[in-house]
Amino acid sequence: MSSQETMKFGYVTYEEVVPIASEFAKYLEEGKIMGNRCKKCDTKFLPPRSGCNKCFSTDMEYFEVKPEATLRGFTVIHFAPESFSDKAPYIVAVGELENGLSVLAHLVGVTSMPDVGMKMKLVPQKISKDRIVYKFTKA
Ligand SMILES: [Zn+2]
Repeated sequence: MSSQETMKFGYVTYEEVVPIASEFAKYLEEGKIMGNRCKKCDTKFLPPRSGCNKCFSTDMEYFEVKPEATLRGFTVIHFAPESFSDKAPYIVAVGELENGLSVLAHLVGVTSMPDVGMKMKLVPQKISKDRIVYKFTKA
C-alpha cells in the first residue's frame, strides 16, 4: 500500500496519523476489531494505543476483540457539529465488550429508542474510499 492509499480510522483526523492508527484501520478493513494490551500491567485498550496510560510502558500486543457488546448508555444527537449535520439525528452509544472494554460509537439500524442492556455488535464500516470506522448495530 502506498501512503496515498493508507486507510484512516475515524470520520475526521485531528492529529498526524500514527502507525498504530494505520495498523488498526488495516485490521478493520480485514473485518477484525483489534484492541491491544499492555504486556506489563495487562490494561486493555480499544482503539489500540501505542503506550499504556497506566504504567507508561510501550510494550504492547494486539488481541482480537469479539464484536458482541451490551448497550450501557446512549444519547441522541439532534444538533450535530457541522461535519455531522447531514447525519442528525443519530445515536452515540457506549457499549461494553468482553474484558470490560467500553467503546463509544454510533449505533445504527435502530428505528426506535434503544433499551439499555440491549445486545449489539461492533462492526467495521468503510465510510469513504480511504476512511473506516466502527459502528454498533443491533445484534
Ligand atoms: Zn501498563
